Amino acid sequence: MSRLNPLPLVLFAIVALTGCIEATEGPDESAPEALSDYDVTEQAVVDCAERTDTGYTSGNAFAITVVTVDGKPVERETANAFVVMQAAAAADGVNIQIVSGFRTNAEQQRLYNCYVNCNCNNCNLAARPGYSNHQSGHALDLNTSAGGVLSWLNSHGGSFGFARTVPSEDWHWEWWGGGPGGGPCGGEPCSVVGAGGDTLDDSGPCFQAFGPAQYWRQVSGEGNAGGLRWTNAFAAASPSCWARWNLNFAQAGQYGVEVNTGGSWGVWGQTRYTVRHAGADETVTIDQSAIDGWQALGVFQFAEGGEQHVDVFDNYSGTIPADQHIMADAVRVTPWVEPQPDPDPDPVPDPDPVPDPDPEPDPDPVPDPDPVPDPDPVPDPDPTGTDDPLVDDDSPDGNASPNTDKTPGEEATQVQSNGAVTSTCTTAPVGRGVAGTPGAVVLALVGGALIVLRRR
Ligand SMILES: [Zn+2]
Repeated sequence: MSRLNPLPLVLFAIVALTGCIEATEGPDESAPEALSDYDVTEQAVVDCAERTDTGYTSGNAFAITVVTVDGKPVERETANAFVVMQAAAAADGVNIQIVSGFRTNAEQQRLYNCYVNCNCNNCNLAARPGYSNHQSGHALDLNTSAGGVLSWLNSHGGSFGFARTVPSEDWHWEWWGGGPGGGPCGGEPCSVVGAGGDTLDDSGPCFQAFGPAQYWRQVSGEGNAGGLRWTNAFAAASPSCWARWNLNFAQAGQYGVEVNTGGSWGVWGQTRYTVRHAGADETVTIDQSAIDGWQALGVFQFAEGGEQHVDVFDNYSGTIPADQHIMADAVRVTPWVEPQPDPDPDPVPDPDPVPDPDPEPDPDPVPDPDPVPDPDPVPDPDPTGTDDPLVDDDSPDGNASPNTDKTPGEEATQVQSNGAVTSTCTTAPVGRGVAGTPGAVVLALVGGALIVLRRR
């Protein structure tokens, strides 16, 4: 990388011959340190999270609102204008990127010292601190050494409100208003998700596609709202094509987020999304082919307002089969309602009205099976000739299975289902519940005589 740019060297030569030029208000510049051979392969990452810094105009300090574009601090309205222009250039296959945006007073002081002392920053011309339009927020240094950028800017920059203001510095462009408006940061939101939720389509104002325009294909007549976009999965560490749906909420809350997938264009099984919600980023990977239609990314807590979004990325670190399309169509946001099971068990009044009608029909079907087994155990006490009630309900079962818990010395009867006492076997089983229960009455046959033993 060469930091030697011919024009600044010429300027320095002039300065050296004529003495110090007093850098005052107006155009002034220092060549961005990474300007030459800047290789842009991706579009900007715009972070609209705002912070306030101290800007200067004509030496006077003021509060300036700064966002981040291409990793550089940029005044918010200048950033909006730039991003709109950048997208238009990308559609023409030209990738414009910011090399230097907003500067603090300390940064300008450093560059000014470099200029005065000629011991750093290529001795490039720099304005006094407080007098650079990089401090007022209006100046951007762009990657004009990249292929096609300068010629595109010369042809189209003016229609986006950008002008080159320092003849000796083709990288220094300023924006003082004008252009088509719009942009992703601040100001009027692209749209607002109301209390009832919303669907954001790729044809709507909240959608942005980034990356080489030629790799974003559009299909009409399919997808949500009559069209969709798609690109291919891309084996790389960082994305080439990616897209964003910007979300601005009228009220905070939990919302379910779904994306429209499937069909011929939503194919890739490892499609990665990031959901930014209330300041947090969550990554979700889905199989776009799994569902033809709305596929859930999850339920997320969103804050009121903007700076929240859903992104989809094309890159994947692994082998990708052919034709793994990634569909970017629509995002559906729905207020999340807790599942139904909660209200059902909670209300007490539910069982009240139900039992009322039930008791009438219930006794009818229930008594039918009961009357059959019931008369069986009841007749048992009668044959014994005793008045003690028979409580052994194990008797019917004891017929079928041997009971090892029989009590020595007590010989139980075997009572068949018909209630008849049929066995005189001395090893006949005794129901555990009966033998082990104090006070229970046990029927036993001893020596062929039927007696009744009462347990103590
Ligand atoms: Zn500049």
